[in-house]
Amino acid sequence: MIASSVGRRGVNRPADVEQVQTLLRRAGIDPGPIDRIAGPRTIAAIVGFQQRFLTRPDGRVDAGGRTLARLNGTPARPVSRATSAVRPLPTGRPAPAVSPPARHDESHDWRGDSSAWPQERKLASLEPGFRRKIDAVLADLRAQGFRPTIIFGWRSVAVQQQLMRRGVTKVRFSFHNAQTPQGRPNAWAVDVVDERWAWNEPDCHVFFRALGNSGKAQGLVWGGDWTGFRDWAHLQGRQNAELRLVKRESGL
Ligand SMILES: [Zn+2]
Repeated sequence: MIASSVGRRGVNRPADVEQVQTLLRRAGIDPGPIDRIAGPRTIAAIVGFQQRFLTRPDGRVDAGGRTLARLNGTPARPVSRATSAVRPLPTGRPAPAVSPPARHDESHDWRGDSSAWPQERKLASLEPGFRRKIDAVLADLRAQGFRPTIIFGWRSVAVQQQLMRRGVTKVRFSFHNAQTPQGRPNAWAVDVVDERWAWNEPDCHVFFRALGNSGKAQGLVWGGDWTGFRDWAHLQGRQNAELRLVKRESGL
């Protein structure tokens, strides 16, 4: 069940992208990591899936559309506009394999794919002083009418290296990977998009400029200011020159 379209020229709400990525994987097509971003690999995976039943794949999954029905393993059927957002799944069939994170002690459960954690857990994965600044940035952005959503707070070194291989990041150890010496997530970086636009031009850059301005007002470093590799969604609480120090503080 997705709220709006995912893929090429889709709305690409992160929660919807995550569902589609999970369904593609279940259908045996690799969309890359479940990272809630409709990037080239995800779009290629949608096209690959559509080639099974469409003569002209468009790379997009619409809410209530044929591709989503196929992904859910159910026959396509017309869905009335009024009810498409709330139509229940056919009974007797398991829900799409998008499992909510296990509900244990919220403050101590750091397992699983950190990009799929609830927003609150992502915030809790930040270094506490940095988190207070990010709380202020998010409140400021919401006051401006944006809908900020965190893609990554903390992430593991293993995920970092996957992202590096995909060209999403240039560094093997990043401020996202910071932890306490005991191994508790203690990230000095967040990646934030507007849930309405994610990476879709041109609107997303209206958001990213606001993110940069708001972050810098809190004394944070904004990846959009970097030359060479602009990391538009990225805010960090330490200077780049401190990366080795942060790695040492992390016991890594
Ligand atoms: Zn980042």
